[in-house]
Amino acid sequence: MPVLKSSRPVGVRRMAQPAVFHVPAWQTEGDERARGMAGTVCSRALVLGALLGLFLPVTAWSAAGQASTRGATAGMGSDGGAAPATLPLRSAVAHPSPGPAPLARRAAAAPIPAGLSTTDEIMTDVRALVDLGPRRSGTPGGDRAAEFMKRRLTESGIPQVWEHNVPTYQWEETRSKVSVGGQTIDAFASEHSFFGAADPTWTGSFSTGAGGRTAKVVDVGDGGTLDMLGKDLRGKIVMFNLRFQIPMLAMGAVSEHLYDPGLSLLNDPRGLLQGNPYITNYTSVLREARRRGAVGFVGVLTDYFESNRYRNEYYRRLQVTMPGFWVTRDEGRRMRSLLPKAGRTATLELEGRRYATPTRTVIGYLPGKSRETIMVQSHHDSVGPGAVEDASGSASVIALAKYYAAQPAAERERGLLFVTFDSHFTGYQSHQAFVKQYIVAEERPFDIVANATVEHIALQGVIRGGKLVMTNRPEPRAFFRTGGNVVRQTLVEAIRKRDLRRTIIINARTVSEDGSMPTDASYGSAMGVPTASFVSGPIYLYDDMDTIDKVDQAQLRPVTAAFVDIVDRFDVTTARALKGR
Ligand SMILES: [Zn+2]
Repeated sequence: MPVLKSSRPVGVRRMAQPAVFHVPAWQTEGDERARGMAGTVCSRALVLGALLGLFLPVTAWSAAGQASTRGATAGMGSDGGAAPATLPLRSAVAHPSPGPAPLARRAAAAPIPAGLSTTDEIMTDVRALVDLGPRRSGTPGGDRAAEFMKRRLTESGIPQVWEHNVPTYQWEETRSKVSVGGQTIDAFASEHSFFGAADPTWTGSFSTGAGGRTAKVVDVGDGGTLDMLGKDLRGKIVMFNLRFQIPMLAMGAVSEHLYDPGLSLLNDPRGLLQGNPYITNYTSVLREARRRGAVGFVGVLTDYFESNRYRNEYYRRLQVTMPGFWVTRDEGRRMRSLLPKAGRTATLELEGRRYATPTRTVIGYLPGKSRETIMVQSHHDSVGPGAVEDASGSASVIALAKYYAAQPAAERERGLLFVTFDSHFTGYQSHQAFVKQYIVAEERPFDIVANATVEHIALQGVIRGGKLVMTNRPEPRAFFRTGGNVVRQTLVEAIRKRDLRRTIIINARTVSEDGSMPTDASYGSAMGVPTASFVSGPIYLYDDMDTIDKVDQAQLRPVTAAFVDIVDRFDVTTARALKGR
């Protein structure tokens, strides 16, 4: 998930809650990912706004006991804020939620399109990708994943399949240790830390030397401006709490549509309030720590479950030149208690390398009647098992390729481009180069008129008593979109038709001026390609806990069928209408 570009305060209008409240700017810099969204968002204000904006109207609707209209359209979308989106209160509790749901009745999703892969078939591809091992760019696992995707697209009947290769940069550690007063701290090296230079193309080896790096530790707590005030970090190791800043509730505040029959999402405070693991204070704290001359960091995974295997992404606007580590909340407590007896010093040992390697993005083209093309996208690389992130999305792309390859070409107005990216975890170089070459370039081979991106078909994970607990419900999810009213309407209908409960729609232009969004589709969307990007942010997304059991098997077909609805509608909509002009 990535890039939220520049943005500005947003007024959100609601029918039942006419007061306009202002969401603070999602301060991001340039095209740094949505993590970009992290920045210095005032999440408390967002939550408050969301509480006011989301709960009050819904409570009122519940009391009324009938379907109602929700004027939650943002005022600055390309298609304006005039048309209200509906919040359907029809029915069904597929996964019974605790507490009464008096409005719940059974909703029947439309029949799945004939010829669409079965759940077992989609799941077979998910499992195969997971079994290839971590699909890290530039490693044998990454190579196997690219070969697998090429083979599966070809077997699915896609006539032209090729690779997109540009340099990306892999990071690996070979030795790491943190100790305080002779006691070893259970710490996990932070990926992409300890660059030898503040240069995104830097390659080479890094090492703290045999004895490690010993320095005083300065604890800055949550790392906010006040926490940092007056702290001398020069030559010090900075210790801070990594905070996950944007809960689902805040997303709800800027949504233009919510589909939540039975109110399973709205009756799920734990799910609503849990932050996602990619919008954090990582960049703001580390940027400040570097500016003040810190020589190392230990991040306490305060909002996380019992694991320190948190594999942060690479933020290309922030080269972390100091060695860094993650510790669990409990281990952070232990470390903090050991520090006074150790003269407040710690020793960090970290060794490894960063090397250049070609991306192996896989592209398949299914011709249509014209040069106009609809792009269907996910990414196949991963840092761990990557079952949800993003074997689930890649398997869905394979199913869509197979479905459309079996349709007569005469039924398709446009060509289809199936793309699973590489470099999601190493800097998005392939995403950016693809946009330059296939979307922006004068002599581009296709005319890409729309993008449909699928990521993270996930079961919900919540933290209870510090532990990760899985539920049998879909993780709350969103379609980020740009483009005209027709895009929103297409999504509203697909969500209802496929009964994609616990789903919101967010017009990306509500939170960013240029249509960038916290998903893999961001770079194309920011270049003006009308986009529908499905995504969720389960807490275990970047962890080795993202195993096969986390995939929401029951949703693989409905979500994929929704993409058939979306692609079919995009196919018969003019490029002008898709853009909303
Ligand atoms: Zn993903």
